[in-house]
Amino acid sequence: MCVPALPHACMLPHAEFIAKASQLKIQLAETLKPVPPPGTYTFGDIKTDHMLVMSFDPANGWSAPEIKPYGPLAIDPSSNCLQYATNIFEGMKAFMGPSGKPQLFRPQANMARLSSSAARMALPPFDEDALLTCITKLVALESRWLPAESGHSLYIRPTMIGTKPTIKVGASDHALLYVIVTPVGPYFPTPPGESLHAQSVSLLAVSEHVRSWPGGTGGYKFGLNYSPGFVPQQAAAKLGYDQVLWLLDAGQGAGDLVTEAGAMNFAAVFEGADGALTVVTPPLDGTILPGITRDSALTLLRTPGALPSLSSTRITVEERVLPVAELSTAHAAGTLRECFGVGTAVNVVGIDRIGIASLRAGEGEGLKVKVVEDVSPSSGKGLGPVGRALWDMLLDLKEGRSEFGGWGVVCE
Ligand SMILES: *Cc1c(COP(=O)(O)O)cnc(C)c1O
Repeated sequence: MCVPALPHACMLPHAEFIAKASQLKIQLAETLKPVPPPGTYTFGDIKTDHMLVMSFDPANGWSAPEIKPYGPLAIDPSSNCLQYATNIFEGMKAFMGPSGKPQLFRPQANMARLSSSAARMALPPFDEDALLTCITKLVALESRWLPAESGHSLYIRPTMIGTKPTIKVGASDHALLYVIVTPVGPYFPTPPGESLHAQSVSLLAVSEHVRSWPGGTGGYKFGLNYSPGFVPQQAAAKLGYDQVLWLLDAGQGAGDLVTEAGAMNFAAVFEGADGALTVVTPPLDGTILPGITRDSALTLLRTPGALPSLSSTRITVEERVLPVAELSTAHAAGTLRECFGVGTAVNVVGIDRIGIASLRAGEGEGLKVKVVEDVSPSSGKGLGPVGRALWDMLLDLKEGRSEFGGWGVVCE
């Protein structure tokens, strides 16, 4: 039943959001910033000239969206998001398409994931298609920031924060939805002359800190899922590892299970006695972020002929629990061929070494972890054949050189 006093509590908000989105206002920046040459900045530092902003409050519902000059937001210091972390976000990229126009990759999936995050965070719903239309207009407006070089892109960060101005604990019925854009190169800078395939990172498998747990919120892009990882990340870096391999003992007798690598989904490739390969990635049980790159990679691996360089390789894909002990066993047996991480920021990155700490040895000693074993896939540094095939095809799809499933969306 629709309660007129609370328009956002019934079916109205989508119609209202669509109506408001059609009134998009554009206020152009008076002076445009210089666009720095690609390769001179690191991930996320440089912001483009404009941002998209809209707000929600219970009396007025959604405001008309505005594209306006990039700049600070003014929010009340008691805002729900500043006190209780009602912050959700998305990460998507626009690449230069063959027609010279920016092109997004499966952006509907990002909108759907943002919707699901908003629902779980008790933030107001929005219309996914109408928001995407506003985002494509913002990206088209910022296209002078998009380098033409392959592997470069505009990283787009839709964000929603709860702005109810009270320190009372509870859901935020006020929100700000905004989208900012930043030009990015390949996530891991590649030395001159080296192929992007040469990228790889090392991981420290950590069990005394967990990223997510059954019934928790690890399956959503919530800001609060990331900050508790900073201390373990710093500890891993001190021990000479690039990222954390997050483990979780779900108490089912299998010991510590692999969940994710840093903020990427994780996959391992095992070779069977018959030479066939099995790609294993943990299942979407609520503790794993349902990555769009993960889904795309699995879809390509499962579609006969979709990855030409693997056409003569027999590959099975398994979404199942992956005990970290299985990595060491396979390493010892010589059957661990590849490990890689996938995500929008990195595309696909090789994992050349996984440090496995003595499990729970650090208990009572804070972050003192003793690495007892280093596991390395036999593919060594850089991407192995499976990771490489995925890297190539995903980048071809993102840059519009290949077509699959209507995944590319041109911004105009
Ligand atoms: C965003 C994210 C990923 C990757 O998701 P994509 O949709 O592929 O970018 C994986 N793990 C975590 C924890 C993430 O935040």
